[in-house]
Amino acid sequence: MEKKYGVYICKGCSIADTVDTEKLAEVATKEHQIPVCKSHDALCSPSGLDLIKGDISGEGVNTVIVAACSPRAKHREFIFPGCIVERANIREFVAWTQEPGTEDTQALAEDYMRLGITKAKNSFPPEPFLLEETNKDVLVIGGGITGMTSALGAADAGYKVILVEKSGELGGWAAKMHKQLPQSYPFEALEENTVKRTIDKVSSHSNIKVYTSAEIEKIAGFPGQYDVSIKTNGTSEQAKAGSVILAAGWRPYDANKLDHLGYGKNPNVITNVQMEEIASSGRITRPSDGKEAKRVAFIQCAGSRDAAHLPYCSSYCCLTSLKQAAYVREKNPNAMAYVLYKDMRTPGQYELFYKSIQNDPGIMLTKGEVTGVSETQNGNLFIDLKDTLLGENIRIEADMVVLATGMEPNTKIDADVLKEWKVKFDEKLKESGGKPDPNAPLEPHKVPNVLKLEYRQGPELPGLEEAYGFADSNYICFQYETRRTGIFAAGSVRQPMHMLGSMEDALGASMKAIQCVEATEKGYSIHPRAWDQTYPEVNLQKCTSCKRCTEECPFGAIEEDAKGTPFHKMTRCRRCGTCLGSCPERVINFKDFSINMISSMFKSMDVPEEGLRLIGLACENDAYPALDALAMNRDRVNPAFRFVPVRCLGNLNLAWIADALSRGIDGMILLGCKFGENYQCHFVRGSELASERLGKLQETLGRLMLEPERVKLVQLSIQDYDKLPEILNDFSEEVGEMEPNPFKEF
Ligand code: SF4
Ligand code: SF4
Repeated sequence: MEKKYGVYICKGCSIADTVDTEKLAEVATKEHQIPVCKSHDALCSPSGLDLIKGDISGEGVNTVIVAACSPRAKHREFIFPGCIVERANIREFVAWTQEPGTEDTQALAEDYMRLGITKAKNSFPPEPFLLEETNKDVLVIGGGITGMTSALGAADAGYKVILVEKSGELGGWAAKMHKQLPQSYPFEALEENTVKRTIDKVSSHSNIKVYTSAEIEKIAGFPGQYDVSIKTNGTSEQAKAGSVILAAGWRPYDANKLDHLGYGKNPNVITNVQMEEIASSGRITRPSDGKEAKRVAFIQCAGSRDAAHLPYCSSYCCLTSLKQAAYVREKNPNAMAYVLYKDMRTPGQYELFYKSIQNDPGIMLTKGEVTGVSETQNGNLFIDLKDTLLGENIRIEADMVVLATGMEPNTKIDADVLKEWKVKFDEKLKESGGKPDPNAPLEPHKVPNVLKLEYRQGPELPGLEEAYGFADSNYICFQYETRRTGIFAAGSVRQPMHMLGSMEDALGASMKAIQCVEATEKGYSIHPRAWDQTYPEVNLQKCTSCKRCTEECPFGAIEEDAKGTPFHKMTRCRRCGTCLGSCPERVINFKDFSINMISSMFKSMDVPEEGLRLIGLACENDAYPALDALAMNRDRVNPAFRFVPVRCLGNLNLAWIADALSRGIDGMILLGCKFGENYQCHFVRGSELASERLGKLQETLGRLMLEPERVKLVQLSIQDYDKLPEILNDFSEEVGEMEPNPFKEF
């Protein structure tokens, strides 16, 4: 497309009171020879938009630079189909944060104009990546309540579903329950188990194909075209799918590890899973002698919230014990239940259920730490408690003890399995003549378990050490999303949750799975860049097969051919641009975002001999909105900074730093999200990777004879926006104390 540029300057929202817009226009007309440059009192008003539209239809303008508000404002207004649109943020970054009418303010606005025009010059219309054929079927792994609800969600919306269940029947743990918790207001009375009805619906749904006693053997491919092998009844069946919902469910924590609570020592110490079986079979009887248990004690957090077992709250067990206490009372109104808790946790509306249980005089709820469970002389059990609300130690006698055991995701690889796998792995390596490293840690996601992905990056979902085997799904923004595009985690593989929570989660995941196949078909990315039709394009002629892009892609979108040349599995790509940042050869670029674009933007800035010029590379997910938030508050921002948005700080290519500093820029601050176990990066490790790359900065800057302190990375979350002015001023002072950048003179 031959570009015809048009620059439009808004004079509203205090812009004309702060900068000389006529002088600003000269940057476009004189410096950049832009043929069409107009201003308007309120560009986003109907007449302002008509001005632009008129030039598009009348003058053939197809590349529009809007010098006005932040690109995060008035987004819809400034969409002009078929045109490239760039936004120069002179409202938030200039008019609302700078002293009106000063030289510095004018210089800043003019630089934003230069940056906007240069960006537009280096931007090209997207050509979406389209698969020859997009399969829109949804594969659901797990036939428990989560898997079945997900399957129904997608199937009722008209999508074909393949449901794979490991056991011989659908229903999972939920089907084994005697009764279920109330699922609607007033959240008081127990309900009959409705899972049987759900099983019937799933089994008879024309859009759902159910495999029971079946396991995934392999999943190869990518969103829109997964090839799935399902092992069933000793044979292997092949299927195709467009997206995957992982609803493999949970397993109870191994109560054999809870002998300090009497499990395994006394048959009358049972788990909450056993209690469901007992209640389903009739009277509440105890295993040792089959006598009715008239005093039943429930010990909460049995293994949960305990550093030696499960460090987290399993979330469902308080409610389960309250429910089971109600069983005790329903079966025999003269029986007593004791619920012994560290803290009672009944999230959401279930507080109402808790209250209804509290009103039952036959259920005693008491806070305390269980110090031991011992047998009485007559075969009953004593439970000793300390730290009670009464302030004294107490002892309770019961006929039976129920341990509220916690929840572990079925995606968790057991430490023993991991160990065994490593031995086999080393043996194999030895056989093949490799050199096994006995100390080499084998990451759990590299051990085949549930998904068995045929991905270079490993067969399972990578997680966090502190996620305890639950799928790492960015907790701030993206429930269900995993680090493998097109694969959505739902229910208790994502976090511990009760049945109602799992059902809600399941529907969310099925909507995501549908969005994924629809977006894939049209060549769009999925969340968080859901509007994006660009994708990374690689100039393979210059690729040295260094594998950095393959290793750093957070979503496993890059594989290698036999010669080690990388190739993108494009529908797995989330368009984060991490690969663009990783490539030392600078051969990965997007149509509207490239190494050359950012370098050219830096080079386009005016660098006077006197005074500081600083660049702020701002992640568009947190840092850029934080800067806009400062503007909303009309806070003053140091005028030496020019902020340039990037998709993620993982885009940082060291070439940009070299280009900026060799242009005479005095320093560069990199504003990215927090990293580590509680990371906030939308693309998992973007700012962390940028920080690692900065480790090599010494070499880059050494060649230029410049101090590495001229570049600083700051981890920032959006709510810390008010700290930014001080952070920026401190950095400006630090750089100001150094000698001026000698490249200013060139
Ligand atoms: S690093 Fe990001 S942009 Fe590059 S292939 Fe992976 S997901 Fe796509
Ligand atoms: S990082 Fe660049 S040079 Fe290295 S393998 Fe990827 S594309 Fe090739």
